[in-house]
Amino acid sequence: MLLALDAVLRHKHRMVTLAPSDCSLCPRLVAFREANCVAHPSFYNGAVPSFGSLDAQLLVVGLAPGLKGANATGRPFTGDYAGLVLYEALAKTGFAQGNYQARPDDGFTLVNTRITNAVRCVPPANKPTPQEEKTCNQFLIRELAAMPRLKVILSLGATSHNAVLRTLKVKAKDYPFGHDRLHQVKSPVWSGLLVDSYHTSRYNIQTRRLTQAMFDAVVARIREQLAAN
Ligand code: SF4
Repeated sequence: MLLALDAVLRHKHRMVTLAPSDCSLCPRLVAFREANCVAHPSFYNGAVPSFGSLDAQLLVVGLAPGLKGANATGRPFTGDYAGLVLYEALAKTGFAQGNYQARPDDGFTLVNTRITNAVRCVPPANKPTPQEEKTCNQFLIRELAAMPRLKVILSLGATSHNAVLRTLKVKAKDYPFGHDRLHQVKSPVWSGLLVDSYHTSRYNIQTRRLTQAMFDAVVARIREQLAAN
């Protein structure tokens, strides 16, 4: 269900308006959302807000909400298979606290970390169009601008990586995607460390393109980088 006309995020003295839960900018996704409101009336069915503080030093950027995961629960990666791998790694490395139970009221919290998606509404077949990726980019731009302490961006998958590069206004050829690849980015928008990982999707895990150990190693490296700077 749509909960509000505008998702207004207040944080200390800053007020940042990010994507409204009923954002209407992508017609195909709006139509899918409306169909899901009928098919799954108990689901959240809106643009999924980010999770974690704007004061975080780490921002994790995923692709898009899963139909029966984040689109159902209203919290990024929560209820998605990908969340099992992501949240386990974050908890192991101190970027999260509590007992993750795949529910938005499970008391699980992020530490110095924020999680968002390149596309905030669930796309059919988990595949946003290039135009939808471009349209939703405006919210990632606002999000980065509202994170004054941000030092590391972890992009999950090439689509998220490209969305981040678009946000930072840098050329893709200068920062090619690669698993466990670290990029020192300098741009007029933001300078800091961009880290790539394969997405923690069910497909990547089941095909062993990515394992929990591989992903844990990426997150542990981010922990070391933040400790050293
Ligand atoms: S994907 Fe982004 S831009 Fe498109 S409707 Fe959802 S919130 Fe709006």
